[in-house]
Amino acid sequence: MKKIAIIGSGYVGLVSGAGLSEFGNIVCCLDIDKSKIDQLKNGDIPIYEPGLRRLINKNIQKGMLSFSSKISEKIKSAEIIFIAVGTPQSEDGSANLSYVESVANTIGKNLNNYKIVCTKSTVPVGTGSKIEQLIGDVSKSDDFDYVSNPEFLREGAAIDDFIHPDRIIVGAKTNKAFEVMKDVYSPLYINETPMIFTNVETAEMIKYASNAFLATKISFINEIANLCEKLGADVHQVSKGMGLDGRISSKFLHPGPGFGGSCFPKDTEALAYLGRQNNVQLNLINATIKTNINQKLRMFSKVKSILNNDLKGKIISILGLSFKPETDDIRESPASEMIPNLIKSGSIIHAYDPVAIQNFKEAFPGLHYFKTWRECVKGSDLCVILTEWNEFRGIDLKELKKLLKTPYLVDAKNIFSINKLKSEKFIFENVGRKI
Ligand code: NAD
Repeated sequence: MKKIAIIGSGYVGLVSGAGLSEFGNIVCCLDIDKSKIDQLKNGDIPIYEPGLRRLINKNIQKGMLSFSSKISEKIKSAEIIFIAVGTPQSEDGSANLSYVESVANTIGKNLNNYKIVCTKSTVPVGTGSKIEQLIGDVSKSDDFDYVSNPEFLREGAAIDDFIHPDRIIVGAKTNKAFEVMKDVYSPLYINETPMIFTNVETAEMIKYASNAFLATKISFINEIANLCEKLGADVHQVSKGMGLDGRISSKFLHPGPGFGGSCFPKDTEALAYLGRQNNVQLNLINATIKTNINQKLRMFSKVKSILNNDLKGKIISILGLSFKPETDDIRESPASEMIPNLIKSGSIIHAYDPVAIQNFKEAFPGLHYFKTWRECVKGSDLCVILTEWNEFRGIDLKELKKLLKTPYLVDAKNIFSINKLKSEKFIFENVGRKI
């Protein structure tokens, strides 16, 4: 059992806090955003993540999990400090490390005895040694070990991913640090969850290489899908046929409106930046990024083609604002990319999402938001489906047609069968199947 402080209580910090306390550690989640901590103390969970509330409440009741904004005080009393703050994309594509550096500075100022400083945030290869240096310079002490422990959870399935991970990656320099990390994850260590103990640079690279590879699979199948549309092949059958080959696997071979979210776009860009900085050609990564940008624009073109390029004054209803189902995270979601283009073309936007409306409203205050998908699509000229929420999969096409002003649909997630859409006489577009 270890005493842990987690700095940054966002998607990763909160899930890690809940998960590490479930593993038997005493955890305090910290954040610079006092209102977030107050919310958590009052029992409100600031993000939508299935199963998170239950796990948090359970561990609060057991006295294993708490929240605080007293960062300095909690650093001093912790044995292990996890850094879980954001590393968003800078204008030049690199990862913005200012939040991580600011936390390192605070840790350095409050280093009062031996600690493990462990980064969960996704940081470019080489950041670990910079953080180590920074903490050493500020604290004038080397009484700590630095660990890289990248996180692989998926929003929407984060609790299961954290409690039953495919692997744990630990990068460090000393055996002492490796032993402490085995203790932190002791239920997983006992269960023989694969653990890779390596150096910090390798751990950092494993995270970027993994995300870039998954993003590449998505861009790959999207390009194949675009060709399928022209040639009469069905991309779903193609990915099924490919995926049955164990060397390929069917995961991340789903065609759609391009990848979004808080990780793939920024992490592929950061890796491409790292390649440029080091004069190493990363042609595949750059192509993955370019294909993704094109795929998002392609969805906009599908809307234009159904409406004969006449978008002015047209009411477009958007179903799905989060970047994928089961999350309220809207960062780089297909909707947040498409809507500005629609607005520029003079369209009026009706928007609905089962959980992400509040977050979307903050970014796009001027849209018309609705409480149900039915109200959202009612009277609109065209409906676009951008997130495959189960609620949308259950939509009755006859009802949808009745509610729409004209039966125009862009099904960017292929949730409806082409035959059913045809038999209901929809004018529609999808991804990767010839109409
Ligand atoms: P987030 O934006 O949801 O949360 C970051 C939190 O850090 C915020 O609550 C913010 O207030 C807080 N913060 C910022 N500066 C701080 C400071 N100086 N002191 C204390 N708190 C501070 O971010 P996230 O989605 O949880 O991502 C965190 C990191 O984990 C990123 O590097 C990301 O790439 C990585 N990651 C994210 C996911 C994911 O699915 N979201 C998965 C794996 C890895």
